[in-house]
Amino acid sequence: MIKYRILGLAFALGLGLSACNQEKSQSSDTTQVESSTSELDSQIDELMSKMSATDKVGQMTQVNLNVVLVPKNGTGYNNNDGIIDPALLDTAVNKYRVGSLLNAINHAYSLDQWDVIINQIQDAAKKNDPAIPVLYGIDAIHGTTFTLNSTLFPHNIGVGASRNPEVAKTAAQITAKEVRASGIRWDFDPVFDLGRMPLWPRFPETFGEDPIIIEKMGVATIQGYEGDGLDQPTAVASCMKHFVGYSASRSGRDRTPSYIPEIELREYYLPQFKAAIEAGSSTIMINSGEVNGIPVHGNKYLLTTILRDELGFKGLVVTDWEDINRLYERHMVSSSLKEAVKTAVLAGVDMSMTPHDFKFAVLLKELYEDPNETEIQARVDESVRRILKLKMQLGLFENDRLEPAARENFGKSEYADAALDAARQTMTLLKNEGNILPLSKTAKVLLAGPNANNVASLHGCWSYSWQGADEVQTWEHVVTGEPVTLDLYPESTKTIKEAFEAKVGAGNVICKSVQEYSSKSNVDVEAIKRDAAKADVIVLCLGENAYAESPGSIRDLTLDAGQIALAKAAIATKKPVVLVLVEGRPRTISSFVDGVKGVIQAYWPGSQGANAIADVVFGDYNPAGKLPYTYPRFTGDFVTYDHKWTEVNIEESPGTFTDTGYQPQWPFGFGLSYTTFDYTDFTLDKTELVGDAKLTVSVKVTNSGNVDGEEVIELYTRDMYASTVPSLKRLRDFKRIAIKAGETKTVTFELDKNDLSFVRQDLETGKFETVTEDGEFKVMINGFGFDLEDPEFPWTSFLSRTYKNALSFTYKN
Ligand code: BGC
Repeated sequence: MIKYRILGLAFALGLGLSACNQEKSQSSDTTQVESSTSELDSQIDELMSKMSATDKVGQMTQVNLNVVLVPKNGTGYNNNDGIIDPALLDTAVNKYRVGSLLNAINHAYSLDQWDVIINQIQDAAKKNDPAIPVLYGIDAIHGTTFTLNSTLFPHNIGVGASRNPEVAKTAAQITAKEVRASGIRWDFDPVFDLGRMPLWPRFPETFGEDPIIIEKMGVATIQGYEGDGLDQPTAVASCMKHFVGYSASRSGRDRTPSYIPEIELREYYLPQFKAAIEAGSSTIMINSGEVNGIPVHGNKYLLTTILRDELGFKGLVVTDWEDINRLYERHMVSSSLKEAVKTAVLAGVDMSMTPHDFKFAVLLKELYEDPNETEIQARVDESVRRILKLKMQLGLFENDRLEPAARENFGKSEYADAALDAARQTMTLLKNEGNILPLSKTAKVLLAGPNANNVASLHGCWSYSWQGADEVQTWEHVVTGEPVTLDLYPESTKTIKEAFEAKVGAGNVICKSVQEYSSKSNVDVEAIKRDAAKADVIVLCLGENAYAESPGSIRDLTLDAGQIALAKAAIATKKPVVLVLVEGRPRTISSFVDGVKGVIQAYWPGSQGANAIADVVFGDYNPAGKLPYTYPRFTGDFVTYDHKWTEVNIEESPGTFTDTGYQPQWPFGFGLSYTTFDYTDFTLDKTELVGDAKLTVSVKVTNSGNVDGEEVIELYTRDMYASTVPSLKRLRDFKRIAIKAGETKTVTFELDKNDLSFVRQDLETGKFETVTEDGEFKVMINGFGFDLEDPEFPWTSFLSRTYKNALSFTYKN
């Protein structure tokens, strides 16, 4: 349960209001909640009664920091020093009364820089009457992106592989502390997008292809950000994003149209937002793109009917970057900027990330002051109310500065331990032929590839800069003109080469890889041929460099040609080859992967990523991650794990069917260990489930190998017959547990009708309902599913398919 305390409003009102406590979510003491809420409301009423139209529309306006920085060559974007221009700040905060600013320009700032920036902004806000503190927002996506020396965790795609919501929660708790220590109280995270299109450059920001994983990880993240209470120095307001359907871009490119039938939207895209809203997330950011031809920023059905009326969201809705302008300039659904402003505000937007000018405020004020625009007036008041409420909840009216108690929480040594633990838990062992892994610590290793000696590619996007790819930046100081050099990554961050050398000694590691990712020497085929003779094993670190958003768009999922050539050359040396994949999205490697003996998927593992990789390669950590997505074998094949039978059963030639429709390189949920696990005594406590009763599923898992390990146990179900074509399996729950060598543990899951439900549409009325239909169901645990290799199968019908060890039960309403 999330708690917050509302303190006095002395900042704004000069009133000696007493403190009161309030539960945000359901409380047993409803009377107290109601009185607290009404007290808060009356504080807001009082404040709003003093606000002019300029104050109100200003609160709804958010500008980027560059707008108030000393310009260089005409723009604050060339100001790398974060130095504020008082006159520009005055224009933003005092003339236009903007309620919020965001971002850092070009790179992360030090804590001291943030202190100065926040103080100057709040000092300006103090001059207004009424004085309303500014809400600063930042993207802290996998740790505190924009503060130097912060701890960066694995990206969500790896966190999804850990199958451990505690990893997500701990990362969020530490992120909240380091963001707040920077004087910032609003984090544009977590990402709730569904990762089903690996071309999409924001795929690494997702928790993968399954909505249950996203829901569990996302809710844990929100608890990590907000759980201590928003007014506490350890918390920040979270921002679920991007509502909704952003990731389903049909072209795979960023910010391009999605087409999502409503039945699918409700089945796959909304449940995670619903759960996050119930968990108390304070704010939400809107998808920049269009869904079914309507830009979401102008879609009242999605932003009000569904988000507010149906899902019950009460918090603040913020646009994404420039997206109100884009209704007019890019999507062309509004014929003027003013119309765009009106459309978005009426659709349900509370705050506009404009982010470069004040046109939104000017146009909204004109609308607000037009006596015919009564609906706009009501919407503005409603939005301002939400914004003020959040500012109060965050304690900004009490203390709008960087809190000393928050600053003490920055950079604690245990954060590195947490980042290492998180990175280790993400590691996913995809191949281990002849138990090539773990390597002996005395083996001579030839380490090669562009990811071997570079820290940026271990961190990916949103890592001390937006794109994350810069390790060093140089510029001339905006005021003095002096040259400045900034190392973005902390000294302590290791490359894989450095982590290997630290673990097994420099004498055992031959590595010619260089920091510059695209350097030809990182894919030097001749060098690998030459050096292989001196090595026992070749470890190739391949994948992707850092990228974010549109600049990360690709047209081909195939791994870079130079890297493929390097891999083929390594294989041709006949030395055993281990592949370490460092990549935000799965790049196809089918042209050479059969020739390598071992594969570790490391995703983008963050600050401690190199150490975690070294731990897995040399056996100091036994990996247990499971793929959070289907790893494609072919570039045009995006069939996900929860496909339907018709997607598997393919008529390859007339009259001849095969089950070649789902042929991933590795399936969703795949991941090996250095030990073996045996599953026995798989049981259901009943074979007939009725009404709201619960079904208990249990299974014994024995670590039958010689080393301790962790295992992820996944529970899938299949609805055998349903009125809407059912998937062959759906993940319903998962648990990650530690099991010592030789030990057996019993794992139980509980299922009820909600876990078996699906979205159905009544075609006569058009209405959607979530139902569980009577009939037969199967339960499968990991390998207990049906066997796609079954040689008896005649390929034409799923009916003749044998389920291996799946258990059946019936459900009756
Ligand atoms: C991204 C958002 C981000 C915002 C603010 C946009 O380009 O789509 O995810 O929160 O910028 O930086």
